[in-house]
Amino acid sequence: MPRSLRRVDFAPPREPSIVLSSPHETICVNLRRVPGAKRFTLRVRSAKRDVVLTMPWRASVSSAREFAERHRDWIGARMRRIPAPVRFEPGAIVPLFGEPHEIAHREGARGVVWTEVGDNGERLLCVAGRGEHVARRVAEFLRREALKRLRQSVLAHASAIGVVIQRVTVRDTISRWGSCSVSGALSFSWRLVMAPEFVLDYLAAHEVAHRRHHNHSPEFWALTKSMSAATDKAEAWLKARGSELHRYGAE
Ligand SMILES: [Zn+2]
Repeated sequence: MPRSLRRVDFAPPREPSIVLSSPHETICVNLRRVPGAKRFTLRVRSAKRDVVLTMPWRASVSSAREFAERHRDWIGARMRRIPAPVRFEPGAIVPLFGEPHEIAHREGARGVVWTEVGDNGERLLCVAGRGEHVARRVAEFLRREALKRLRQSVLAHASAIGVVIQRVTVRDTISRWGSCSVSGALSFSWRLVMAPEFVLDYLAAHEVAHRRHHNHSPEFWALTKSMSAATDKAEAWLKARGSELHRYGAE
């Protein structure tokens, strides 16, 4: 299989999707033909809240439908386990550096977005301006905070091991938390701003360490662990809780 086909962001030509409907639910299953696939494989992607059925190149759509129908209960159970999406709206609870914050709309207030401690000790994420702008302002605030904090961490780790970073950006990636290009451009998911700080700082160390070792060799891990004492703890956190970060900010 050519290398490019294995990349997670590879987008094959559009295949039809099939719909499984029952009195209780309608589930849309996206079909993906993969050269070299020997059998049908089902995947429920919690970040995208969808189902992907990988199928052999020459298999028919009707055999794919049959396969999906046979596994309908399994798909339904997995879909129901995906946590409900959380919109950025007043009253919603959104984590900031791992601490839950309640979004509070302060219509007449000056400023844009800021944090505050409420009368009962609760943490608030306050948003000024008109109601229809709350979601966008929260999203922009979180991206800005993510970039600021990640940049700080990256620069500290880079100077500690003496490597040069070209640039740091944040994006909304589904399949990876961070990446490091050969030229030294680092990119991260803005959603890390919602994770505890030790997770964000570990990711920064991880990507900076790739400036030395562009692989996941034992040397790479030894370097990363020397830069971030929380490496194992952060990896475990991402594995257990990382997908939750994708539920926030749904349109
Ligand atoms: Zn890596």
